[in-house]
Amino acid sequence: MRVGNRQPTVEWQVCGVCNYDCSYCIQSRSSRTGQPEAGTVEGLLGFFGRLPGRWEIKMSGGEPFAADLFMTHVVPGLVERTVHTVSVLTNLSAPMPVLERFAAATRGRLGIMSASLHLERVRVRDFVDKAVAMRGLIGPGAQFVVNTVLVPSRLPEIEEAGRMVESAGLRFFPQVMKVKTPAGVFPYDEEDRPRVDALTGSADRYGPLRANTAPSYHGRPCWAGVEYFTVTQTGDAWACRSAKREKEGFLGNALDGSVRLRDDPEPCSYRMCPCTVPANRGMIGEE
Ligand code: SF4
Ligand code: SF4
Repeated sequence: MRVGNRQPTVEWQVCGVCNYDCSYCIQSRSSRTGQPEAGTVEGLLGFFGRLPGRWEIKMSGGEPFAADLFMTHVVPGLVERTVHTVSVLTNLSAPMPVLERFAAATRGRLGIMSASLHLERVRVRDFVDKAVAMRGLIGPGAQFVVNTVLVPSRLPEIEEAGRMVESAGLRFFPQVMKVKTPAGVFPYDEEDRPRVDALTGSADRYGPLRANTAPSYHGRPCWAGVEYFTVTQTGDAWACRSAKREKEGFLGNALDGSVRLRDDPEPCSYRMCPCTVPANRGMIGEE
């Protein structure tokens, strides 16, 4: 079943390892480990290559550029052995020569480069300069966006950073802070809430293209598990991030050939959708 303008998408956690250790990272320190071996990369590339049609493979981690095989196996493999669009979520800490090689290798095949601004780790001016350089390298056919987590203690800094990002001609994409509670989202206090609403555009009811407000799509039909799914660094495929968190929606393992995608959408049964990728790829239907 395929209707509408959905962009079939896989989110691939290339590695667990990250070169940063952000205080607000939703991935626990103990889970931020793991380097893919050549055989794993090989097996997953074969799996992606067999997906019918043209998908978007959005790579994340950890930090994907921190994977030893990222530039030697992962990126060239996706470009040369699949027809899919290549996207990446990165903290943009890789040295400029590496980023230049990435831009060259993915030219004409890059969908979106999403660069995360971590104020604990970088000076905004340096990050924006690097982001502008990267925006210029990836070419007009690809999108570039700067995202940042709305860390409650840093909202004034984030407002200023947003102005700098936008005045450099880049898209700024704030994200509410996720926490490991049943609600899943940090409970901003009365003082912070108007700032968060202004940053995300929630007050003006802007949608998932403007910011990640972790909304609820409970009850709405969702193509997670049909034309969207996530793959961990060990090849486990899950219908979506919420499904994985609740240990539901396991689709099989991409390395042992057991992945079975669903035929039809199912109503969302989760209280929040933590990531805007499904919404922005058209996966969520009307009630
Ligand atoms: S860069 Fe991302 S994955 Fe790495 S520690 Fe920071 S928030 Fe976590
Ligand atoms: S949490 Fe999001 S991706 Fe998962 S089923 Fe619900 S709407 Fe779909």
